[in-house]
Amino acid sequence: MKKKLGDILPDVSDDCRFNLNKHKEEYYKRIVSQCSDCAGSGFVSKNNTKECWCSESFKLILELLKSNFPQQHLSILNEEFFQRKYVEVDIYKSETNKDTGEVKLSISKPMDFTNDFMKSFISHRTYMIENSCSALFTGNNETGKTYSALLILAKMIKYGYSGHYMRFKNYLNLLNSSYSNNEDKILLRQIRSVKLLVIDELGKEHGKAEYATTELEELIKTRQDNLSSTMLITNLDYTDFIATYGNHVKSAFNKNFKVLIFHPDAGFRKKTRISWPKVK
Ligand SMILES: [Zn+2]
Repeated sequence: MKKKLGDILPDVSDDCRFNLNKHKEEYYKRIVSQCSDCAGSGFVSKNNTKECWCSESFKLILELLKSNFPQQHLSILNEEFFQRKYVEVDIYKSETNKDTGEVKLSISKPMDFTNDFMKSFISHRTYMIENSCSALFTGNNETGKTYSALLILAKMIKYGYSGHYMRFKNYLNLLNSSYSNNEDKILLRQIRSVKLLVIDELGKEHGKAEYATTELEELIKTRQDNLSSTMLITNLDYTDFIATYGNHVKSAFNKNFKVLIFHPDAGFRKKTRISWPKVK
């Protein structure tokens, strides 16, 4: 099937960099044309040299859309970020008991995500990307893993780095269709080569685990070859993750991955829950 710009494709549509054009006009209308500071022109000086804030934020939103940023989080940089705690797994010191198969994890003291992880990543961003510094975010539902990764992604995009967000299931679908569809092949190549790639919902894909494992390992290695960072997100705990994807993935991890376990935060649901309007 021939795909047009902005068309919706089954399975991969959500993750298509082609979706950009469809939203472009809509966002332009919403942000720039309604701006009272520049009367919708996008400039605040008479000779059109100084750009208005609305034009700047419009450009950022286009970049976020191109990166398949979830639309409900487009204003993430303007939102208050709640403190999140995590512990780090020392993957060298964690041991598997050969007889029982039981894994004894060696974990750090509780750390603060904003100060200990995010700020360090952002302020050393060139080093991080050039050394393919990457992370696996684990933890239960509603511990803020996806939101935290998206916040880093948005900040990096704002600094001019290319990025992409994708669910692992959709990555595998795109990979499948890339064998027969040339546009998907190009899209896949673009996604694999962005500087910061966020892959969400590992462990929720269907089909053969063997296939997923091979492709995940391949992806991690490609990313390391390309000098680019990757953030993987899973609801599996680290032990189950390794049991699912095997020791090949684990050894690919050894080079440059940090493994984080996010702490449950009792107030998180309340903070993110949307209230329904009441009928008067
Ligand atoms: Zn304006």
